[in-house]
Amino acid sequence: MSNRKTKKLSARQVMLDVVGCLRENGYEALAAGGCVRDMLLGKKPNDYDVATNATPQTVTKLFKRTLTIGAQFGVVVVLLGGRQVEVATFRSDQTYQDGRRPEKVVFTDARHDAQRRDFTINGMFYDPLADRIIDYVGGKDDLHKGVVRAIGSADRRFEEDHLRMLRAIRFAGRLDFQIEQKTFQAIRKNASKLKHISIERIAIELEYILADPQRKRGLNLAYECGLLENIFPSLGGDDLRFGIKIASALPKKCSFALALAALLINCDGKNSRRICRDLKTSNELRSQVSWLISNRQVLLDAVPLSKGRLKQWLAKPLFEPLLQLARIHARVTSTGKDQLRTLRKQIADLGDEPLTPPRLLDGHDLIKLGAVPGPLVGQLAEELYLAQLENHIQNRSQAVTWVKKWLSRHHNQD
Ligand code: ATP
Ligand code: MG
Repeated sequence: MSNRKTKKLSARQVMLDVVGCLRENGYEALAAGGCVRDMLLGKKPNDYDVATNATPQTVTKLFKRTLTIGAQFGVVVVLLGGRQVEVATFRSDQTYQDGRRPEKVVFTDARHDAQRRDFTINGMFYDPLADRIIDYVGGKDDLHKGVVRAIGSADRRFEEDHLRMLRAIRFAGRLDFQIEQKTFQAIRKNASKLKHISIERIAIELEYILADPQRKRGLNLAYECGLLENIFPSLGGDDLRFGIKIASALPKKCSFALALAALLINCDGKNSRRICRDLKTSNELRSQVSWLISNRQVLLDAVPLSKGRLKQWLAKPLFEPLLQLARIHARVTSTGKDQLRTLRKQIADLGDEPLTPPRLLDGHDLIKLGAVPGPLVGQLAEELYLAQLENHIQNRSQAVTWVKKWLSRHHNQD
């Protein structure tokens, strides 16, 4: 075996190789689902999935490196050319008991496999060897019309798997499509069932919707269908509508944390932390969201800032998104505009002064100068650093003089 690293192939090439290998071995194999939709839209697919009549067992035999975690549902992941391709055996999903996952799958053919997929635009196949679309569900038409339509009875499809309701929003939002009327009505009817599915799966879909440049459309649809109120039961309609307004006004490209903070803007820091905890988001995301929400007003209230404080704010890792949130909130509510103008001028006036210069004296220096080890050293160090950031102290000897004065003041107070 060669020691050289495998060259990373394009996702499309890997799909072609996987399809080619299955076909050479006498099996049917097609690109399936989202990648076909994206190809027809002229967009680069996120990933290419393959559907085949070969069983998972056969797929694992045909390819050297595979992951078989989903094999009982008919899915094998093939590792090839530095990529992963999901290879799914044509199947019908049987008896959904809990609105989440099929209990059992039955291997079938492409036509039946199309029927178990969620929306017509996601239910097509592509034969890359013949360069031909295979469409059993009218997906091409709906793609053309810009419509998200459930395959089969919308009501039944959403009862089978409640997550599909959020997926409908995801695709309609992202592609700027309409949700077909019956599909839309079925979502409204079934929206309250969302609480039966795992919060982790909901949080993933929420991230798709919020991080998408088209979040305005996705959020409005999710609100109109009654899905948002089921994801955030503690928020009232006014809070949600206001949050959607703020989140929609954010730049197209923004982080999940910022978009979620915008949506939850009417909560206080504590409430937003609780909501994030309920959504089981990571601790990091939870603290980012609550920091953004709690500090938007704190920042504005502190303006005008001293030079030192300004540098401290600017050095905070989330200062940029905080400022974006504050700007948009100010624009939408017509408040805080003066503070933001002052802040902008202060930032411009600061020029390129370093925000976090190295400290002139460290803790050891302070103790050598007579500070008693303990909490007071921390306070002294912070005040000294702030004086340095304010440019009141420029060098070590000025710092020593400043510390001596500080210590005599504090010793006199003792
Ligand atoms: P994306 O571009 O966001 O990856 P996608 O359409 O590829 O979108 P995936 O979640 O990757 O979506 O799923 C791949 C395909 O599997 C879908 O296009 C659809 O045909 C099918 N599918 C996925 N989830 C479901 C579901 N919950 N119910 C029915 N079919 C589904
Ligand atoms: Mg996909």
